[in-house]
Amino acid sequence: MKDYPNIILLTIDALRPDFIDCYNDCGLTPALKKFAKNSIVFENTFTQGPLTPLSFPAIFTGMYPRKVMDGFGKINKNFPTFAQILKEKGYETCGICSNHFLVKGTGFEKGFNIFYDANDFMKVGGLLYRWIYPAAFPNADTVNEKAIKMLKKIKRPFFLWIHYMDTHGPYFTGIKFNPVHKFHNEFLWIKATRRPKSVTKKEKRKLKTLYKKAIQYIDQKLHELFKVFEDMNLFENSIIIITSDHGEEFAEHGEFSHSRKLYDELLRVPLIIYSPKSKHARIKKIMGLIDLLPTVFKIAKIETDINFEGKDILNFERKYVISEANPDKQKNFIAIRTENWKYIFDEEKNKEELYDIRRDPLEKKNLVEKVSKQILYEFRNILKEFTESCPKTGNTADRYFDDKIKKHLEFLGYIDEMK
Ligand SMILES: [Zn+2]
Repeated sequence: MKDYPNIILLTIDALRPDFIDCYNDCGLTPALKKFAKNSIVFENTFTQGPLTPLSFPAIFTGMYPRKVMDGFGKINKNFPTFAQILKEKGYETCGICSNHFLVKGTGFEKGFNIFYDANDFMKVGGLLYRWIYPAAFPNADTVNEKAIKMLKKIKRPFFLWIHYMDTHGPYFTGIKFNPVHKFHNEFLWIKATRRPKSVTKKEKRKLKTLYKKAIQYIDQKLHELFKVFEDMNLFENSIIIITSDHGEEFAEHGEFSHSRKLYDELLRVPLIIYSPKSKHARIKKIMGLIDLLPTVFKIAKIETDINFEGKDILNFERKYVISEANPDKQKNFIAIRTENWKYIFDEEKNKEELYDIRRDPLEKKNLVEKVSKQILYEFRNILKEFTESCPKTGNTADRYFDDKIKKHLEFLGYIDEMK
């Protein structure tokens, strides 16, 4: 077997790049700042979907979610995943995930020799655990503890995927358990996700502060994890990837958390890749999470004859990235993002939006009625070509959740998704 590097994929739920120091000097993430200094920082990465189940199919398969999804929450077993491909190459594969969407039975566990999911974590003490445990999901302390145990046992080369939830609402800030704080924050979160219009300015500030504190907490936990990597000499022979599945919104377009919308506060994600053989670089090219797998495989010199829809972005110039809010539904809701423009088409409402990102980065002025017909014509053509060449192949009616998971996801704010 070839001398492959270890691959460590760290995904942090709902993490916006403008709250990280290597993208924006905000002073919140010293560990990530240091990590980025020796890594490749991708400045313009966009998710293929604004929710975990709409985004992870692209991360794990290098394919558009509409093609590989089997209803909402599941991936089709016919498409090989990151872990499956690496396992075939001789990797030991281990997944440790705290997100209730990515559990055994959804297909996201495929190819992992060891897969520890959110249900395994929460099983520890049943319902009581839910009330006395400081977070609404397994927090980074708990996840790291498990990951470090695994690291000590795992054979090399290995693929280790760790998913953190702390930056997901109701935001876990790492402060010592205090039931008053915990329930106050959870009630504010429930209000923000169910009745966004009733959130006051003060409450909005509070939500943002909690989000920032959660980011500081996760940065501290990454610092501790990197220390373990150092002690185990993993920086010498491992590719380490840090990214997120989507962004987070604070009523920029009316809602909180992450709804089925296609604005940049939800679509732009961080992507930082460390490789012992690469120098620090900043890549401004536009890319999607769909390109992550082919790019990492190229860096790791892993060859496969799978025809990914994503590309090795270090050797490819993308003109645009496509993201979808409804890959699991009949009607399309699609965004096409170029360096300078964002075009959105909502088939249900038969509505088009077009934003000039350079002049209007917050996407507030819809220019559909104002731009030349030629610009719109080009976007409509890209859309037509995409929907024809990449049909939705999954069962668009199916949803996969057992009652226990459903309850938990409802609490986390996914009300519409559970209907
Ligand atoms: Zn997510």
